[in-house]
Amino acid sequence: MEKTNIKKSLVAESEQIQLAIQMIKLGARLQLLESQTNLSRERLIKLYKELKGVSPPKGMLPFSTDWFLTWQPNIHSSIFLNIYDYLVKYAGVKDITAIIKAYSLYLQQIGHDSDAEPVLSMTRAWTLVRFVDSKMLKMHGCSCCGGKFVVNAYDLNQGYYCNLCHIPSRAGKTKKAKELAYKLVSIAA
Ligand SMILES: [Zn+2]
Repeated sequence: MEKTNIKKSLVAESEQIQLAIQMIKLGARLQLLESQTNLSRERLIKLYKELKGVSPPKGMLPFSTDWFLTWQPNIHSSIFLNIYDYLVKYAGVKDITAIIKAYSLYLQQIGHDSDAEPVLSMTRAWTLVRFVDSKMLKMHGCSCCGGKFVVNAYDLNQGYYCNLCHIPSRAGKTKKAKELAYKLVSIAA
């Protein structure tokens, strides 16, 4: 009896370590690792240093919903959330597993190369899901292109035009933005 318990706890621990490794590789912050695994802070820091060669950055997680509603972050957040919703609905995954899978697919969709910092970090993606779960943000269909975008749940979103159909002149209609727009609409459709 004693022996099976030890065995079980070793398997559980190695699963927790695998989960932490996946998240660290995707750029998760320490606070996120602590909230999603039951590994001690010391072990997580050690693991982080081993994988990244540096100590995890200090500082609090981003808190405001505003960031997700600004122009470029909104497009990236919407791409991620469309993928996440799809996986939860059709792939039978949930919680942190769904976030990890959706985030990996998001990186693929935007053609991310590992040298650059992606617009939407793993930690922000996780925060976004929490904001949606707590009904502060939600998805809403654009009246023009039909794509689904992240919007403030407290706003009246009737006749909503997304950030791609209604591009502020400052942002400019770049080729990259157009490519992303096309991807987003095709994911949402
Ligand atoms: Zn639109």
